Amino acid sequence: MASIFTKIINGEIPCYKIAEDENFFAFLDINPNAKGHTLCVPKKEVDRIMDLDEETYLGLMAFSRKVGKAIEASINCNRVGITVIGLEVPHVHVHLIPLNEMKEATFQHKVAPAKEEFMAIADKIRSKIE
Ligand code: AMP
Repeated sequence: MASIFTKIINGEIPCYKIAEDENFFAFLDINPNAKGHTLCVPKKEVDRIMDLDEETYLGLMAFSRKVGKAIEASINCNRVGITVIGLEVPHVHVHLIPLNEMKEATFQHKVAPAKEEFMAIADKIRSKIE
């Protein structure tokens, strides 16, 4: 069965889209640690990051860097942190988290933007994608 992220990539489930190319897709995390928390996903559905072929792994990191630089340029943060977990959704994804404090990296601290705010955040990040 297709993962929830494959359904997002295919447009079957809505998301706050940030960027897309031939092989990768980025959208806002629906339960963010901080405003601007973004997920970068390979379109190829693989569960564990260590099982990605090297080309996809390196491509995912390059795509994540591009998106991360746009987050740093648009969201008020000290820096963007990168985390890979995957215990909830078995489809590789890189968490890009705007960080000001350590608690934002813990996944214990959450924020809950309204729909309009999610849309505004996505617009701001998208406007800085190069
Ligand atoms: P993990 O698999 O532990 O790395 O966590 C999965 C992440 O995906 C969590 O941060 C969720 O909030 C996020 N997530 C799950 N479903 C959605 C969705 N439909 N749209 C955006 N983010 C999601």
